[in-house]
Amino acid sequence: MSGFRQRLTSVILLTIATAGLWLVLGAVPALVFYSVALLLLVVHHLRYLAALDQWLQTPAPAAATLPDATGAWGDVFARLARLMRSQSQSQQQLSTALERLRRATSAMPEGVVILDETDRIEWCNPVAEQHFGIDYNRDTGQQITYLVRQPQFAEYLATRNYSEPLIARQSRQQELILSLQLIPYGNKQKLLISRDITRLERVETMRRDFVANVSHELRTPLTVIGGFLETLSDENQTGSKIGKRALTLMTDQTMRMQRLVEDLLALSRLENAQNPVREETVNVAEMLRELYHEAQSLSAGRHHINLKLDTDAQLRGSSDELRSAFSNLVSNAVRYTTDGGEIILNWGIHDGQGLFSVQDSGIGIEPEHLPRLTERFYRVDRSRSRETGGTGLGLAIVKHVLSRHQAHLEIVSEPGKGSRFSAWFPANRLILPQGE
Ligand code: ADP
Repeated sequence: MSGFRQRLTSVILLTIATAGLWLVLGAVPALVFYSVALLLLVVHHLRYLAALDQWLQTPAPAAATLPDATGAWGDVFARLARLMRSQSQSQQQLSTALERLRRATSAMPEGVVILDETDRIEWCNPVAEQHFGIDYNRDTGQQITYLVRQPQFAEYLATRNYSEPLIARQSRQQELILSLQLIPYGNKQKLLISRDITRLERVETMRRDFVANVSHELRTPLTVIGGFLETLSDENQTGSKIGKRALTLMTDQTMRMQRLVEDLLALSRLENAQNPVREETVNVAEMLRELYHEAQSLSAGRHHINLKLDTDAQLRGSSDELRSAFSNLVSNAVRYTTDGGEIILNWGIHDGQGLFSVQDSGIGIEPEHLPRLTERFYRVDRSRSRETGGTGLGLAIVKHVLSRHQAHLEIVSEPGKGSRFSAWFPANRLILPQGE
């Protein structure tokens, strides 16, 4: 505003001077003077306007190349120069920050790819270039599925459920095993993080193979020992009391070891990624009727057991695996429920999902144990588990079977009141009877 007033003052002064001239010399000389003065003023401004226009048209207008000026234009150019300098300073800071970020992401041991909403590559770091065999300069803007040609990856991208990472073998370098995790962010963009887990997977495979081999090797000797113990027990009917007791103990422990070996082998089979789930039609109602009878014989009349079949829906999956999972849940309910307790087996459909649940009025479980129950050999009460013939692997087997069927286990329990173990199956695993 002060600049405007300054400029206005000079015009007013010129007008006053013209008015003075008018009084002294008359109208004509005064008006001629006024016109010439105004013309000079216009020419002066046009000159600087042209200079400014020319400067703006240079390929990289910089503060240093601004034309020299005095007066009002001098102020304007000085202000412009200041603005340019502060702008170039913040640009410098921005590119330093960007360079720092670029160097940090390049140093990351993980691959990072930014995908836009149509899954095209916007940016990637050098590790991602290595992992996926892509080139940032060549492949930016390309659809990621054209470059990572794996059906599992395309499926993972399409499911939009990225809670768990995808373990994938790189098709171009078969020995490279990657853990891929998608993280949605911002405006429908996604971060694709790739981690090289080749060594980890190798160790895990060694562990699995070791357990499977040891269990397999133990199977035959245990069968031989078990067989001889049976023969000895039959022959030792008239033997000493201590001998009989030793034979009973040896037989019990051998059977326990056999159960352990069988459960370990079952777990190895379930963990084996090369062993896909058999897609059979499983008649759940029929399976539960059999399990109900087994539960009754295990309980030997000590519990009230009920079977509630709310649907005839069948399941798509492996009959053997599902039987083993359901049987573990049912036998746990019998083993951890005191005499006189109640057990309810239920099969139904809730919220469009298949639900198998086992409810008992047993000893229940303290809340702090719940998250760890499906770990191998995790037991709340070791001695009760052993006394009732447990191996500590039952719920680990249940968890694996369910996850192979895209199902999940829910445990609700209250100490002293009882527990409910529920297996939820997704709608696409259900085969509904006509009309349902
Ligand atoms: P185990 O062979 O010891 O029963 P599981 O893996 O089947 O092994 O179960 C792990 C632990 O979870 C058990 O040792 C027990 O403490 C607890 N548990 C499982 N089912 C029940 C249940 N229905 N009621 C109370 N506790 C249970």
